Amino acid sequence: MLECAGSLTGGGIRQMKLMRICFVATLAGILLGSGAAQAQQKVLRDPAEPTQAKTGAKGPARVAKVVARQSVDTKSMLTLIDELVACGTRLTLSSWTDPKRGAGCGRDKIKARFDKIAEASGGKLQVVVDKFEATAERTGGKPVPLENVYAILPGTDEKLKNTVFLVSGHFDSRASDTMDVNLDAPGADDDASGVSVSVESARLLSKLSANRKSGYRATILFAAVSGEEQGLLGAAHLVEWLKEKGYTVGGMLDDDIVGDDPAPGAPHRVRLFSGNGEIEDCDSPSRELARAIEEIDGRDAIRMVFRVDRYGRGGDHYPFYKAGLPAVRFTEPLEDYNHQHQTPRTENGVEYGDFAKYLNAAFLGNVARDNAEALRQLAMAPAAPAEVRLKGAVTPDAKLSWKAEEDSERAGFEILWRETTETRWQVFDFVTGAGETVLKGVSTDNHFFAVRAVGKNGARSIATASQPEVRLAPGTKK
Ligand SMILES: [Zn+2]
Repeated sequence: MLECAGSLTGGGIRQMKLMRICFVATLAGILLGSGAAQAQQKVLRDPAEPTQAKTGAKGPARVAKVVARQSVDTKSMLTLIDELVACGTRLTLSSWTDPKRGAGCGRDKIKARFDKIAEASGGKLQVVVDKFEATAERTGGKPVPLENVYAILPGTDEKLKNTVFLVSGHFDSRASDTMDVNLDAPGADDDASGVSVSVESARLLSKLSANRKSGYRATILFAAVSGEEQGLLGAAHLVEWLKEKGYTVGGMLDDDIVGDDPAPGAPHRVRLFSGNGEIEDCDSPSRELARAIEEIDGRDAIRMVFRVDRYGRGGDHYPFYKAGLPAVRFTEPLEDYNHQHQTPRTENGVEYGDFAKYLNAAFLGNVARDNAEALRQLAMAPAAPAEVRLKGAVTPDAKLSWKAEEDSERAGFEILWRETTETRWQVFDFVTGAGETVLKGVSTDNHFFAVRAVGKNGARSIATASQPEVRLAPGTKK
């Protein structure tokens, strides 16, 4: 490989020419190279890894995208948002029995939508209203009744149907005072928009399944929860509800404030927040879910933010993240705080309030497509590998081991690696069986490693990052 930056000694034209040669050579290398080769192109001054040639085996090509942007019904999403806004307020502390005003009015509108989609699905989609009680500072310290609404599309695989991928928006809303049921709280963007994404995803994915255009091995759950503004109460309850029902959470997609995109040049990319992990402060199941979604939807659709949420703020993915489950948050690119958590009013010529007129239909529709496609591909994939361990410290080779249950629909596993300073995984190798694989001539020190499962259908599981094999100090006994 031509040595570029270090060899520029001459001035003027000669240097320009050399730079051009270097640029072309590097570009050709990138176009031709495998993932591993690319990584090496960038570290020209470092020793090559692996030190010997590797197999370079490849798995099946990635499954194609199927959810077409034109198939997203933004008009009906906006109609649902209008119906929710017309409930006046959907504060969790408001009435659950008044059909015209309050949280119960919101629940009715959502349940009616899910029921209609369930009917069209030929009974495949199951609608559940989950009633419970919760106590928090923002319930005045006393138990209050809450309700979540779920629509469940059961998976087709005997084992994988116990794994659930879910999308959730919160249907409760709030005004400036989060305890006052008498104030109007339209909550169009926060978070009728997220609810509309969840409901539209249910419609899109049920339809694809009914037309046999897509089969989901895992279960998909479409949620609209309450209690977010009173302290993430509905989502915290949902974590427990899923556990009780025997589900394993494969991934949770929280959509909160996903309808507005006021900056010039809209529609922009949606932001996708994911929290750090405990290993070297970087990888977590949530981070792997974010990376998987970005790979599915594309970098032109998703802007990953490596932070659990907006600075100093929270959302419904948080109780999942804290439980160690893969959970991420979708949020619009640049928020307008005059339109969030505000009692509708005009002050000094400035209008405050979360109204539907500020929403951007093109952006909202994009978010629905991105969620639906991600859920679809994740629900088609084999289970993510378990107990991925890295050993081989103080030896010339890295050794990766992992476990996976039998799965006749799985083609194999991709071994992933990246420079510790890189954002995204690259495929290092493909192997067909679980167990241990030796990465010959690869140091354990210079990269992070992970493994993901690949289906014969081309769908990838989220990656499972490796954990260090605990080494005992010399002379210590087990
Ligand atoms: Zn919200």
